[in-house]
Parts: sequence; C-alpha cells; structure tokens
Amino acid sequence: MLKQTIKHFVSRLFATPPSGPARLSRDKHGIDRRLVSRHAIKVCEVLNQQGFDAYIVGGAVRDLIVGLQPKDFDVATNATPNQIRPLFRRARIIGKRFQLVHVVFGQEIIETSTFRAPASGETDQHGRILRDNEFGSHEEDAARRDFTINALYYDPLKEEVIDFHQGVADLKNRVVRMIGDPETRFREDPVRMLRALRFQAKLGARIDPATEAPIMRLASLVEHVPASRLFDETLKLLTCGHAMDCLRELRRSGLTKSLIPLIDRIFEEEGGEAFVEIALSRTDARVRAGKPISPSFLFAALLWRLVQKRWTTLLAQDVQRNEALIRAADSVIDEQMDKLAIQRRHQADMREIWLMQARFERATVRSIWRMMEQPRFRASVDFLQLRAEAREVDSVLAQWWMDLADSGDERRSQMIDTWQAGHAGARRVGATRKRRRRRKPGDASSDATPSRDGAPDQTA
Ligand code: ATP
Ligand code: MG
Repeated sequence: MLKQTIKHFVSRLFATPPSGPARLSRDKHGIDRRLVSRHAIKVCEVLNQQGFDAYIVGGAVRDLIVGLQPKDFDVATNATPNQIRPLFRRARIIGKRFQLVHVVFGQEIIETSTFRAPASGETDQHGRILRDNEFGSHEEDAARRDFTINALYYDPLKEEVIDFHQGVADLKNRVVRMIGDPETRFREDPVRMLRALRFQAKLGARIDPATEAPIMRLASLVEHVPASRLFDETLKLLTCGHAMDCLRELRRSGLTKSLIPLIDRIFEEEGGEAFVEIALSRTDARVRAGKPISPSFLFAALLWRLVQKRWTTLLAQDVQRNEALIRAADSVIDEQMDKLAIQRRHQADMREIWLMQARFERATVRSIWRMMEQPRFRASVDFLQLRAEAREVDSVLAQWWMDLADSGDERRSQMIDTWQAGHAGARRVGATRKRRRRRKPGDASSDATPSRDGAPDQTA
C-alpha cells in the first residue's frame, strides 16, 4: 500500500513536464479543420464566447492526426456542468458520480466534460481506483488520461493542439505510451491493458517497452473490474477493425485467460484458429464498411468450435441430436460466464444462433417456415456462411439458405416449393446421407420426394 502511494506521487510528480504544454500549430499537427465536427466546433465557440476554455479532446484528436475518421467528438472545458447546460438549447446533464453534459445536435451528441483531476488515493487492495470524480485543472485533466496519444487537446478556433506529454511525437512514431508509472496506472484501472492493445492494433503502433513490461504480470487484475465495463472494452477491442491482431496480442499477453479462456483451448483444436480467423476477418470487413456488429454473433463465432466439439462428443454417446447441441451450448456458456460475463440477452441470442445450426441440414417444409419466423434467423444464416467458408457444411446448402433469407415472400414460397419438387440446391436441404444411400440406382424420382427424416423440431 505504501509502495503504491509512493509510486502514485512519483508518477504525479513526473506526469507533466515543468516547461508546460507544447502548443502546436497547424503545420505541426496537420489536422484539417474541415474534417472536424461542426457541432464540436460550435460547442467550443459558445464556451469560448462565455470566457471558458474548451477543446476537442481524446480519440477524435488522435484519429484526426493520423488520418482516421473519428467515431465521435468529445469536448473538455473548465466550465462546470451547471455552467455548460444553459448555454445550449438541447443539453442534458448525465452521470451520477461524475457529471458531464450531452449537447445534442440532431443525431450527433457532443459529450462535454469538465476538466477532471487524477484519482485521489482511494483504491481497492490491488490498487484499483474506486473514486475518480473531482474537477481539476487543464494540466490535471491531461495527467489522468491513459496514454500520451489520448491526452491531446485541439483548439478549433486557433487551430492549435495542446500537448502536455509529447503525444503528437508518440503518435507520429506510432508509440502507445502510458502517462506516469505504467504499473500504477494499470493497477488503477486494468482495462487500460485492453485499451493499450486496441490502440496498438488500430494505429499499427507498438507499445512502448516500459508500458508493455507489466502487462503480462498484471493481466489477471482485469478480473476485478466490474463486468459491464470489462465486456464493453473487450467488445471495443474485438470490433476495432483489427480483431485477429488484437486476439493474438490478448493471447500473447496472457489476457485471454482472464477474459475468454475458452479461446486458448479453441486455438489448440485442429482448425479452431482458422475458424476464428474467418469469423474475425468478416467482422473486420463489416467494421471497415461502417456496418454494425452484433456482439452475440461475434461471441457465438468465437466459441463455436468448442460447442461443436462437445456436440460431437455427445452424439457419439448416442445423445439425441438437438438435445446434444443444447447441452453443448449450455455448458460452453456456463463456462464462459466464469470469466467475462456476457449479458443475458446476448447469451440467449448466441444460443439461438447455435441451436439453429442443427436444423439447416435437416429442415422440413414446416420447419423452414418456422425457422424463418425466429428473430435470429438471419444471423443464423450468416453463421451458416461462416461454417461453409470453414468447409464445415456444404456451400451450396449455405447459399440456398442465404438466397432464401434475402428473398421476398413470393420468392420464398417458390424456393420452398422448388425444394419440395427437388431442385438442385434444394435437394441438398432435404436429402440426408441416409436417404441418398437408400435410393435405388436409376430412381430419379426419389430426389423429387421431400425429405421426411429431418430431426424432430425441438428447438422451435
Ligand atoms: P475510441 O476511438 O474507441 O472512442 P477513445 O480514445 O476516444 O477511443 P474513449 O473510451 O471514447 O476512447 O475515451 C475517451 C478519452 O477518455 C480517451 O481518449 C482517454 O483520454 C480517456 N480515457 C478513456 N478511458 C480511460 C481510462 N480507462 N483511463 C484513462 N483515461 C481514459
Ligand atoms: Mg471516443
């Protein structure tokens, strides 16, 4: 505890260069003002007119400097929430412990927060901060941020970047460097370890050796972080557009053990890593195309190989097909919950996606219609594509279901009728191996008979 406190003060002492922050002009930081949200500029203007300091801060400044499109724009100011709110027509104060203001412009929300001080002493036994809600100076606000590249302030009126910790140089050199003493700061908030890996992958950067050094040793501390925060940061990591790189780094640094330990086992299975890679490269492609990502689909894909393995084992023990899949799915979900808790609604969706996989190959006319009514039908068909790409199921079968999912009602009826009549793609839906084996040579008509030997529809 004493060691922690001394470390804390030493890090505070060295947190800010005594010469004060660097003020970088346009030619040094290179931000094109036209790419900055006009609403964020407006918030800064209004606050300035009232005599306050206000800057765009954090991820937006970082991303603009390296030429990425920011996800959102945050503003930091020395005005308090009660001073900020009345200045805007649509603004609301949010947060209980630390209040900040959401200034609303149509679809865009500019999160506007008052400069905050670094956490004062109160921590748990591992050094994790329990309270972090005091207003502070501009300099203090910079010191409490995680990495130098995230502590940059852009003044859109002067087109100047204020840099207390040589963040612009680190950004240009693609270095993720902790502000202050890395170990203390990881202990204060262990999700910073996940954030370091995320920015490394997202920016194609490296983690500064002193920042990286304690990560392996401290990895298990993420287990003490409240579940919802940990889930959010893990999800951000897997949806940053470089998911496979992030996952490899997670494994290398020992963080998967405390987050998704089943992944380590999946990577050891034959073809396990390949399946995860296919799933994550699709996720990355969607992220880069600006499409939304469903957390349940992502986790369903990450854990599928283990579900499948347990399913196969149970089938070999003569457990009925659907029952075996239900048991396999439940055991994987239960085991995952020991570490990173996935919210119940996502769990339910994952289960639905998995259980539907047993039905595609054995569908009957009636079950096809019922399957289409399930809320996760589309996601389950997408999942089937993954499995086809991994050569786990027939790609013609997967395509048939994809076409069905993409079609309007009329075409759907036709397709299902065609399937009854035994057309090529459809034949695969109905025809099980057993059935084909029974077919007599030359008896083409048996293809035209709808399959009646699909598995009982227990999951409906
Ligand atoms: P993204 O592009 O994912 O939004 P970001 O850097 O903006 O990345 P946010 O979670 O939106 O990340 O946080 C905004 C800013 O708040 C960060 O840039 C950083 O300055 C600060 N911050 C966020 N999380 C932490 C943390 N755990 N510890 C210290 N500072 C943090
Ligand atoms: Mg952000």
